[in-house]
Amino acid sequence: IWASCLDIIKDIVEWQHFKTWFEPIKPISLKEKILTIQVPSQFFYEYLEEHYVSLLAKTLKRELGKEARLEYRIMVDSGNSKNKPLTMDVPGHGYKSYSNNEMDFPLVINNPVKNPFVIPGLKKMQIDPQLNPAYTFDTFIEGDCNRVARRAGKTVAEKPGGTSFNPLVVYGGVGLGKTHLAQAIGNEVKNLNPNKVVLYVSSEKFINQFIDHGRNNAINDFIHFYQMIDVLIIDDIQFFNRAEKSQDAFFSIFNHLHQSGKQLILTSDKSPKDLEGVQERLLSRFRWGLSADLQVPDYETKIEILDIKMKNDGLDMPREVVKYIAYNINSNVRELEGALISLLAQSSLNKREIDLELAKKVLRNFVKSSTKEITIDAIQKMVCEYFDVAYDKLLQKTRKREIVQARQITMYLSKAFTKNSLKTIGEHFGGRDHTTVIHSCQTVKDLMDTDSLFKESVLELQQKVQLAAM
Ligand code: ADP
Ligand code: MG
Repeated sequence: IWASCLDIIKDIVEWQHFKTWFEPIKPISLKEKILTIQVPSQFFYEYLEEHYVSLLAKTLKRELGKEARLEYRIMVDSGNSKNKPLTMDVPGHGYKSYSNNEMDFPLVINNPVKNPFVIPGLKKMQIDPQLNPAYTFDTFIEGDCNRVARRAGKTVAEKPGGTSFNPLVVYGGVGLGKTHLAQAIGNEVKNLNPNKVVLYVSSEKFINQFIDHGRNNAINDFIHFYQMIDVLIIDDIQFFNRAEKSQDAFFSIFNHLHQSGKQLILTSDKSPKDLEGVQERLLSRFRWGLSADLQVPDYETKIEILDIKMKNDGLDMPREVVKYIAYNINSNVRELEGALISLLAQSSLNKREIDLELAKKVLRNFVKSSTKEITIDAIQKMVCEYFDVAYDKLLQKTRKREIVQARQITMYLSKAFTKNSLKTIGEHFGGRDHTTVIHSCQTVKDLMDTDSLFKESVLELQQKVQLAAM
């Protein structure tokens, strides 16, 4: 059972997270519909509960049926044997923590009138804003990377609909804080003004709701619902891409809200001018307001972000480790957090204090799994340069030993550092077939075991490739 649960989870969770959080779990027993699993520590248990509870529940229910229950057993140091199981009630378990994708909300809540939209204002609409309370301005560190966006967000939160920042479009790459900032605005509005109707929705959910209502011929209800909102936050509007009908609906909603002085906050992974597949009439409206971008934080800001995350989780670690993480993670804030969490997990798993050595070990894996893709061509160039071999020689059928070895190493590195298939790799070497590539990889591995000079070259090259891929 656990194995098939894992199979499902594996497809859903990122590889790095899967390795960290699910592989160390041991299934212990299955009695009736109760599955007991063993987790390595209290920290593990808490992390799973906080982040994966609904995934675990769903998966288990799928495998065992509705009555499925999950019990945890926390591994306790030997000698101290109170292995008291902690119980989690799968079917009844509410969402302790907010979850971005899971929660669904009906379009009308707490309103007994059959068609509430005929008499708006009679009863203020009460809807759950779908906000994560952890995403606030207090926890959103300001830096050069986000100053404009953060301040504009703050202004908008204080006077929703009452500034020229309407819509406010926040854009930037993955993991840079778009969702956090957008939700911080929503939370702040609610904080200052509990009566305002705030709603956070991802564009995917918006589209899905729209499709559901199209099926039931209830598109007008859908549009009316959204027109009652005071502060509408739509996350990741790049997914509107080509959803023409949903864009039409959004267009009416946008116009209505904007005209009535309601606030719109949108996020996107690209600047509005680069958004493909979004109607020009929408894009031109986005230009009415303010677009502000989020950039990768600088070193100081990264340190501050790590500090606040640790403070919020009641954690501490040596300064040099914090600095080391901040210095080495340069992609985005999510990865920065991921590194921190992996480190904690490793320390907890191995019952080992966090120190620089452990940080180095953990980050090595981390960086490897999150590198951007390097191309076969790039590897070929590096190897040629390293061995001073002409590029075309690498592709020809030369039997000269240095060239054969250079070619084999290139194939080996291409296999290790790109996601290309053996076939594709072969094709990059003058149309060799995949068995040649397999053979080359094997030869390199064997030679590394027996020839230390050879091994040194390969490792040196490997480091170059790794660096180039960062
Ligand atoms: P995006 O929506 O752009 O992909 P998120 O808003 O989900 O990114 O942010 C990823 C993670 O990084 C979240 O946990 C968020 O709290 C954190 N984060 C991003 N920017 C900041 C910041 N300036 N200060 C503190 N945490 C941040
Ligand atoms: Mg997001």
